[in-house]
Amino acid sequence: KMKLREAIFSANNLASKFYNYLLLNNDIASKAKEYLNDRGFNEEDIKKFNLGYAPDSWRGLYNFLSDKGFNQEVLIKSGLVVAGKNNSYYDRFRDRVIFPIYNVRSEVIGFGGRVIDPEDFPKYLNSPESPVFSKKKLLYGLNISKEGIQDKNEAVIVEGYTDVLTAHKFGLTNFVASLGTALTREQANLLKRYCDKVYIAYDADTAGDKATLRGLEILRQAGLDVAIIELPQDLDPDDYIKNKGSDAFIELESKAPDLIEYRIDLIMEKYQDQSANSRLKAAQAGVDFLATIKDELTQDAYAKVLAEKTEIGYEEIKNKMQKVKKEKK
Ligand code: ATP
Ligand code: MN
Ligand code: MN
Ligand code: MN
Repeated sequence: KMKLREAIFSANNLASKFYNYLLLNNDIASKAKEYLNDRGFNEEDIKKFNLGYAPDSWRGLYNFLSDKGFNQEVLIKSGLVVAGKNNSYYDRFRDRVIFPIYNVRSEVIGFGGRVIDPEDFPKYLNSPESPVFSKKKLLYGLNISKEGIQDKNEAVIVEGYTDVLTAHKFGLTNFVASLGTALTREQANLLKRYCDKVYIAYDADTAGDKATLRGLEILRQAGLDVAIIELPQDLDPDDYIKNKGSDAFIELESKAPDLIEYRIDLIMEKYQDQSANSRLKAAQAGVDFLATIKDELTQDAYAKVLAEKTEIGYEEIKNKMQKVKKEKK
């Protein structure tokens, strides 16, 4: 067992060098390099994150690693090679920009590959689960952001590779990505080893909003303080930081609502200009939500927040709260 794991790490490590070498030095990668440059990533970024290019060939990597002595079992179990019909083998990643994925000890555990041509699909392809790669247990960028996270005692959790890359490029060094939107308990517990507070900065779209609600509950249960970064609609942290800079992002951090305030904000959005008395409806929905909070002091503190946001008097909010509580009894 141990031997297989070591062999996979070794194959992954060599593969990352193969892909990276092609991206930096070979003309076949010129489209990939241009694509990254267009997105604002230069040679320094490529080196820092060991980005690569998987050639548009069926057995480029297979042949390279076979020549280095890796057997088929290792190549297949690593996920780098796929077994087809009739004992045929082919490279999993072809004509893609490659993002090596590291564990916290900076070992290459797997890869993500992005299409270059927007017509191609799927947009991202990941390594399959393997003896060293478990998607639900990893946080992309933790190896490179670990110190930044520990220094600040805070992490920012984002969806994707490029969000982490851009953050680092702009001097924000405490970002990790959950690689998609389904944050797991394992990822939350992993993060808790390095800090006490987490900002969720998922994409400002429907998928991201949904995942934020799920994610904040999981992070809270792991014992982390949670705040939610609200980006302008349809932007992700990569877009935002590139357009507005790191100071603007830090500004968003400082305004990030905590879990309860975020729920109030969602209620406010839901009732926004739906009718003349939408503020009243929002206030009522807000009160219904606040009534579920057990701690009285917390409840009262957020009654004030709700009063401010709905511009309905604090006394009025308190009255409504009393009513709901009585009904509950
Ligand atoms: P880009 O900026 O390159 O378009 P992104 O990171 O903004 O990428 P999203 O669509 O927001 O991409 O997805 C967030 C993350 O989810 C990706 O970085 C990737 O890790 C993962 N992901 C997205 N689509 C897929 C897919 N089809 N298969 C596997 N993982 C995916
Ligand atoms: Mn997204
Ligand atoms: Mn993006
Ligand atoms: Mn995104």
